[in-house]
Amino acid sequence: MIQPILPGATIGVLGSGQLGRMFAIAARRMGYRVHTFSPDQDTPTGQISDLEVMASYDDLDAVSNFARRVSVVTFEFENVPGPTAEAAARCVPVRPSGNILHVTQQRIREKSFLKNTGLPLTPYREVRSTVDIEQSIAELGLPAVLKTAAFGYDGKGQFLIRSREQVAEAWKTIGEQEAVLEAFIDFDREISVVAARGENGEFVHYGAVENQHSRHILDITIAPARVPAEVAAQAVEIARCVLERLGVVGVLCVEFFVTRDGRLLINELAPRPHNSGHFTVDACVTSQFEQQLRAVCGLPLGSTAMHRPAAMANILGDLWSNGQPDWLGACQFPDVKLHLYGKMEPRPGRKMGHLTALNQDAEKAYRTVLKARQSLTP
Ligand code: AMP
Repeated sequence: MIQPILPGATIGVLGSGQLGRMFAIAARRMGYRVHTFSPDQDTPTGQISDLEVMASYDDLDAVSNFARRVSVVTFEFENVPGPTAEAAARCVPVRPSGNILHVTQQRIREKSFLKNTGLPLTPYREVRSTVDIEQSIAELGLPAVLKTAAFGYDGKGQFLIRSREQVAEAWKTIGEQEAVLEAFIDFDREISVVAARGENGEFVHYGAVENQHSRHILDITIAPARVPAEVAAQAVEIARCVLERLGVVGVLCVEFFVTRDGRLLINELAPRPHNSGHFTVDACVTSQFEQQLRAVCGLPLGSTAMHRPAAMANILGDLWSNGQPDWLGACQFPDVKLHLYGKMEPRPGRKMGHLTALNQDAEKAYRTVLKARQSLTP
């Protein structure tokens, strides 16, 4: 049993994006202090933190100094370099542990873990040359998706190969680096399960939610997912198994494809709160961010009960193409909550904020959130 880290203590966050911001909001609400570490300044997390340290992740002295001033270190993105997590771990507990980052920040390691654990995943082959790709296409068929082993995010480092003529182009596009070739799944829908696990093995989850992507970026989440109860229950059991086998202390999200014949295939893991869990801030008794806080501090986990079904729509930088979005428009919807991440520069594809609509009926929430987002366009 670990000694709980109680309100008043300081939590260190590696990374400074919107996930860290919402974590920091949850932590500060419960009376914790938050320090954030990243190479940037005036960041989404830094704006909410007591202290914003700006330094490179490779500056291990800076990492150690940062870690010495906090009671526990957590992270808000999985590409924190291994040595950075190790340097922090020499000073204070890092939760989830650096070992989990190691597994989940590289597709080949992640897929090997899932395969060895006997969990269902998209058929794939490891590839290190165009010859490997040709060979894998012969085995998996086309279309197929080439993905760098080093994680890109939001579809970066991916190429959809439709014909053999595209092999050389695909290999060049992803930077001629170690990769996986995945069978393209003509899925019925995509779902995910966000779950949390405490040091003592306590496990909670938010059920299966449904995700729609656009240009490889999450666009909409509908909670709960519109799938048969057995499929949702099976997804939760798979998530439980992943968190237990990895020994996660914190939050982890499992993303799945649901095939047209109702089978689940794991697409990927994220060892942290996830965009598909943002609805929990407004819709659930305990948000995924508070859950992360509770888990990493050794507090009992909170209830994941949902007040009402919900739908979440991301607000990307593209919405600024005709000027400032019409915030008043979205505020006309009384059951819609607006979240903005304090980012100054609205680039296309950049996650700037999100909207969450609440309704007794998830379909209605879905329709409302689409309308509310539409109303943002000036
Ligand atoms: P990823 O970054 O790997 O999660 O991919 C982002 C999105 O691209 C997924 O959520 C899917 O919508 C799509 N995608 C990725 N891999 C595949 C695949 N093997 N088959 C079909 N769609 C895929």
